[in-house]
Amino acid sequence: MNILFASPEVAPFAKTGGLADVSGSLPRALNEISCRASVILPFYKSVKNMRLNLSHFSIGQFDFLTYKEGGIEYIFVVNDKYYDRDNLYSEPTGDYKDNSLRFSYFARAIAVVAIEPARGFDIVHCNEWQTGLVPLYLKIHGVDIKTLFTIHNIGYQGLFKKDSLYSIGIPRRFYNINGIEYYGKLSFLKAGIVYSSAISTVSKGYSEEILTPEFGCGMDGILRTRASQVYGIVNGVDYSEWDPKLDKHIAENYDRETIDKKLECKKDLIKSANLPPDTLERPLIGVISRLAHQKGIDLIVEAAREIIDLGASIIILGTGDEKYNSLCKRIATEYPLYISSHIKFDNRLAHKVEAGSDIFIMPSRYEPCGLNQLYSLKYGTLPVVRSTGGLNDTIIDVYTDEERGNGIKFSEATKKDLIKAVSQAVELYKDKEKWQKIQKRIMGLDFSWKASALHYKELYEKLLR
Ligand code: ADP
Repeated sequence: MNILFASPEVAPFAKTGGLADVSGSLPRALNEISCRASVILPFYKSVKNMRLNLSHFSIGQFDFLTYKEGGIEYIFVVNDKYYDRDNLYSEPTGDYKDNSLRFSYFARAIAVVAIEPARGFDIVHCNEWQTGLVPLYLKIHGVDIKTLFTIHNIGYQGLFKKDSLYSIGIPRRFYNINGIEYYGKLSFLKAGIVYSSAISTVSKGYSEEILTPEFGCGMDGILRTRASQVYGIVNGVDYSEWDPKLDKHIAENYDRETIDKKLECKKDLIKSANLPPDTLERPLIGVISRLAHQKGIDLIVEAAREIIDLGASIIILGTGDEKYNSLCKRIATEYPLYISSHIKFDNRLAHKVEAGSDIFIMPSRYEPCGLNQLYSLKYGTLPVVRSTGGLNDTIIDVYTDEERGNGIKFSEATKKDLIKAVSQAVELYKDKEKWQKIQKRIMGLDFSWKASALHYKELYEKLLR
């Protein structure tokens, strides 16, 4: 089976969040089970700066560069006017004003490659709103190629003014309530939902949640009309990237048998974070996150004082909305002995935080899958999560199920529930024997792509039948 995997961000070429991790690792996992996947993404400045050994081809007006690594062909869509910029989607003042043009161009380029007869693609696997127009362009051109549209976060919908319709080459007849119209605007996400052969999202729990008004972000109605074609497949972890035994970024490599060396990673993190040496005696809580309302960062800020009083210290690595950037900076200034904030995107530091922390918190208001809780498990860093979406699916509360528990869960997105869950984690941490037993157990869990890639393969096969 030949898959064209289309995504606006793919690690290690371009990344703002978990989508890049998934787009980097799922195609490789598919290759291992004899689905040949080619990956297509824009030729961003970040890719240009990697100075890869590239080949060129063009189809009509579209220019492409290709690069092969690990049996995968990466196809980059070239358009310097649109993609040679410092960021992927936005700048500090807000989204790029021409995103409708940038990503309709991307979608058209994907469609053009998808239908190249010589390439023989069976399926186009589209990811997020930036690829939402692909199924529609294929329909407009009467091409019968199956498309899977995966929603990684329904909060991002690619909403644009109605007038954009004319500049992106969509005939007026598709602008209606059953098409791409969305409350007087047009939505690229909705195009993906309406015109794809099937829809999936990144956990079973989230696939059910998005059908409800509470989590559907206004798209639940249209999704319910396609409910029988909505699937949930949980993301996997790329353990070649996220395993303390192999990690190139951390002070000491360790595994279940050599877990004592995790302490060296904690020492190193404390030093990098500029926290005092006696932090070593305190449970250290890690946070790595886009700083957005979704992630419940405000709850951490509100609870900071109480968390410190429980005896814990906190390190925050994140970047995002100005409001949360400054809140995180402010608490670090207020409690410099206990809180260290790093407002930036830094992959190396992210690995150090996973390895050097004892506890990892994710108080998300909603979470389609979440990857950091899965990375934390492998690093023996106990996840404390809100029971929503993929967090709820992947984490079992140790206080509820002592045998299988792999973290701590709380139900309401409130300061009170967060503090209670953190205090439970801190209590466990004090019992060294119990703590290490749990650490060893969670490090042995397998959340690799193997099972999930097979589910995708089954779904592709179903679409082709
Ligand atoms: P989301 O995709 O909603 O941002 P996920 O938990 O699915 O959340 O994935 C987040 C990914 O982005 C992880 O790989 C995480 O380590 C990484 N990440 C998030 N913020 C940063 C940051 N400031 N620096 C480095 N990596 C980050």
